[in-house]
Amino acid sequence: MAEKPDDVPAASAELRMMLDLFDRINAAIRGLGPEPYANINRLTRLCGELLGADAAVYYRKQKDSLFAIGRWGLPDDFNAVVSAHSPCLDNSGAAAFGIYVREGEDLGEPACCNISCVKLGVKTCVGCSVISGDGILGQLCALYRSAYAPHPLHERIMGLVAGALAVEEERLRMERASQKLSEELRQSQKMEAIGLLAGGVAHDFNNALTSIRGNAEMLLERKDLPEEARDEAAEISKSAVYAASLTRQLLTFSRKQIMDSEIIDLNATVTNLAQILRRTVGENIAIDLQLAEGADCIRADPGQIEQVIMNLAINARDAMPQGGRLLIGTGVEDLSGPEAPAAIREKPGRYVALSVCDTGIGMTPDVLARLYEPFFTTKDVGKGTGLGLSTVYGIVRQSGGDITVDSEFGKGSTFTVHLPAVAGETAAPRQADALAGLLSSGETILLVEDEAQVRTIVARILRNANFKVYEARHGREALSILEQGRTIDLLVTDIVMPEMSGYQLAQEVRKKLPALAVLFMSGYADEATLKAASSSENAAIMMKPFTPTEMLRRIRALMRR
Ligand code: ADP
Ligand code: MG
Repeated sequence: MAEKPDDVPAASAELRMMLDLFDRINAAIRGLGPEPYANINRLTRLCGELLGADAAVYYRKQKDSLFAIGRWGLPDDFNAVVSAHSPCLDNSGAAAFGIYVREGEDLGEPACCNISCVKLGVKTCVGCSVISGDGILGQLCALYRSAYAPHPLHERIMGLVAGALAVEEERLRMERASQKLSEELRQSQKMEAIGLLAGGVAHDFNNALTSIRGNAEMLLERKDLPEEARDEAAEISKSAVYAASLTRQLLTFSRKQIMDSEIIDLNATVTNLAQILRRTVGENIAIDLQLAEGADCIRADPGQIEQVIMNLAINARDAMPQGGRLLIGTGVEDLSGPEAPAAIREKPGRYVALSVCDTGIGMTPDVLARLYEPFFTTKDVGKGTGLGLSTVYGIVRQSGGDITVDSEFGKGSTFTVHLPAVAGETAAPRQADALAGLLSSGETILLVEDEAQVRTIVARILRNANFKVYEARHGREALSILEQGRTIDLLVTDIVMPEMSGYQLAQEVRKKLPALAVLFMSGYADEATLKAASSSENAAIMMKPFTPTEMLRRIRALMRR
């Protein structure tokens, strides 16, 4: 016959107590609900009760501090933060169980990790680390107002509860990770949709602006223009230039801006800009450059990268009206794994980092959520366009990188741009364009453009510069001009045209004239066009709207080759 529990000899009383305790722990763990924070409080309480303590607390380790996350028997305002030098953090990952504070004994500096405990009259603190595969997650503590009477089982009990806490922490971590992922997805879909819309509008707008701008400039060049009319034309031209700059920013945001990529040394770019930056941000803001020595180069459009730095610095200035500190840093990072910025996760590798950090007003979560949207601004009318960061975003993404921000209201902001590093290449020296010699010595150009207004104005610019120009409305007409036996020195063609694209036309023409230089014009570039055109030799692309000088400079550069 089996022994009844009552008959268990006294020596086994210990065993019975143990089984009873383990039953309670098991029951408690099975009874946990879906809410991790509630569970953390329950487990903290369980630990305190089973150890016969007066109170218990679970501190989560975050960076170098401990924060009280689970509490039992403690006031709600029980001070949350424990210093980095707490003895609780003094072990290297083992589930250290120890008595950290004992009345009347000096257990080393600091004697108690949390002054609030002392204020509450805590005499003893018994603690155990909560650990996972990645190291210490936190510290579970039982607090006593009297001297602590240790029991050999206490270490085991604390260990079990700490294990259950680690599971809850892991659940929380996974919940947060999946929330972050769906937030990122929502954000990228939103940006994609706005990009499509903005790109579409900007495309049509560009054609109109090219004509407005070109006509105004032609008017201004007329010697017989009455003085008033000159002022008006100048006004038209000024507005058109401004409108064009807005359009260009929108195109950049939607990643339809044409890039002139080069190998660049980011440190050199920052250093070259420093002078202008100092003037831009003013005297009450100190600029600090922290450039990593020997950082890799990147492949990007130098003008665009300067724009990224300027836009970020101007925002930093605006965020520090009373003055402050602006830090611009560079570095190299190997990025992989879930911590990498979203757009980079698919392409792990070596990245050059550019960070722009200010000690300004910082941002609320509402602002952070809409930061990169075109026209989102918190600044007064006339002060902000809301296009600064959307331009930065477009440039960074088109250059194969990503941008992240770390900011808190009242605590400044840090923007970090990551761009793919190019190994083993050195930056090309930049040379200034010679402005002289833009005029033609009578070369012939075949101009193909379906938009009549644009064609007319471009033809006039070219003729004014002494070129001989044949105009064609589409690819077929251009080919028939060539069939008439005309000799031409350059083909200038729009890319997007009905029936035959500019690129197809160039291919046809080159069957006869393989060495002919081609200048493509476009208000809009999809990836396929860009790739096709840039892979074509002895050719260049010019973005609409352009000024006559820009155009002539491009033509000169092509014909000099
Ligand atoms: P704008 O500067 O014209 O307002 P941006 O696109 O450059 O447009 O910035 C959008 C908004 O983001 C700003 O209006 C501001 O609220 C916020 N912002 C950007 N950079 C910072 C910064 N460094 N500190 C605080 N807020 C910023
Ligand atoms: Mg701005």
